[in-house]
Amino acid sequence: MLTGRKYRLDLTPDQAEFAERIGGVCRSVWNTALEQRRTYRRRDAWIGYHEQARQLAEAKQEFAWLAEVPGHCLQQTLIDLDQACSRHGTWKVRWKSKARTRPSFRFPEGAKIAIERLNRRWARAKLPKLGWVRFRITRPLGGAVRNATVSRDGTHWHVSFLVEDGALTPQRHDHPGSAAGIDRGVAKVVTRSDGIFHHQVFAREREVEHAATLQRRLARTQKGSTRREHAAAKLAKALAKVRRRRADFAAKTAHTLATGFELIVFEALPTKNMTAAVAPKPDPGQQGAFLPNGAASKSGLNRSILDKGWHRIELATRGKARYTGTCVITVNPAYTSQTCNVRTVVDRKSRQSQAVFRCTSCGHTEHADVNAAKNILTAGRAEHARPRPGARAGARKPRNHVGRKANRQATAAQGHATASPELAGIPRP
Ligand SMILES: [Zn+2]
Repeated sequence: MLTGRKYRLDLTPDQAEFAERIGGVCRSVWNTALEQRRTYRRRDAWIGYHEQARQLAEAKQEFAWLAEVPGHCLQQTLIDLDQACSRHGTWKVRWKSKARTRPSFRFPEGAKIAIERLNRRWARAKLPKLGWVRFRITRPLGGAVRNATVSRDGTHWHVSFLVEDGALTPQRHDHPGSAAGIDRGVAKVVTRSDGIFHHQVFAREREVEHAATLQRRLARTQKGSTRREHAAAKLAKALAKVRRRRADFAAKTAHTLATGFELIVFEALPTKNMTAAVAPKPDPGQQGAFLPNGAASKSGLNRSILDKGWHRIELATRGKARYTGTCVITVNPAYTSQTCNVRTVVDRKSRQSQAVFRCTSCGHTEHADVNAAKNILTAGRAEHARPRPGARAGARKPRNHVGRKANRQATAAQGHATASPELAGIPRP
């Protein structure tokens, strides 16, 4: 199975400076190539990866600053742009601004990256043109390296390797028949249908205030000044800390969920209203209650600091599920918070407050999130059991691996039944 391994790099000042430069060149190649694609489109023409790669090779003859950075990283940038444009359309792909994008570049040829262990804590990797880079080997690589991505997160540089670890998805989960519905929320990040909460505060109130102060300080500095650079670095550091906590929480929660359940049901997240949904009207006494108004809660800073990482939890769970044989599905979230899970009666008034659900019909009382999670599970079970005609294995997420195998056997048997008369040489009438 392909999996990621991320380590913190210990670059020499020269290497860090060079890495920054490579990131900058990749960014400008992205922007130039995107602008070129748009110019072509305005003239009703089209330019693709191959022509852009050819022009890049030509430009490298002319400009030393292009030639000095690893060529494969630039090519990879063009490939990434090509994929982004074909997936989202040339007009929806965004510029990479210097202030907002964190530098990142990929070395696509894993076979050419040598990795050596230096001692218990340190290892080094040889990257084209960057040379030997040291990193803290906090966990074993555990497989063959396919590619390496170098990126800066706040002040630190990291390398992440894409690794083929040779693991296979088990045929059956360790707990056959187990299932959980998952409700993601603000008051509790994750609520399970069995009444268990997974919760963590990613940024304490003081930290949120501190980030806001840093943001204001940054806004008062002049563009291009040293003071601005310092302020930006401080803010980036504060945000990176919150981001790490969120990633850690997502990984741990995903592990618990995937090892514990054979079927996990999430509510499908809205893609367009995500920004509005990240920080809904804060409850008094809850995190984020001091936010001045709803509009501010959608703004960039508050979004990055108050984000609960709902999407990330789902992604991490899907990643873990490959190792446990768990099936992860999503269902339409409509009415899950207003429906009584005992008699499936829908009434908006049943949701008495953020935390309390009391059915107006049968009087059933429960924690509102647990009730929602149970409804999500019910919907998920129905979805899971429904046969999908025409669904091919691998075309979408398989419902479960046993089912997929059974399907394959069934098709094989079918093929055999129809093929045999001809093979036997029975003459057609
Ligand atoms: Zn009821």
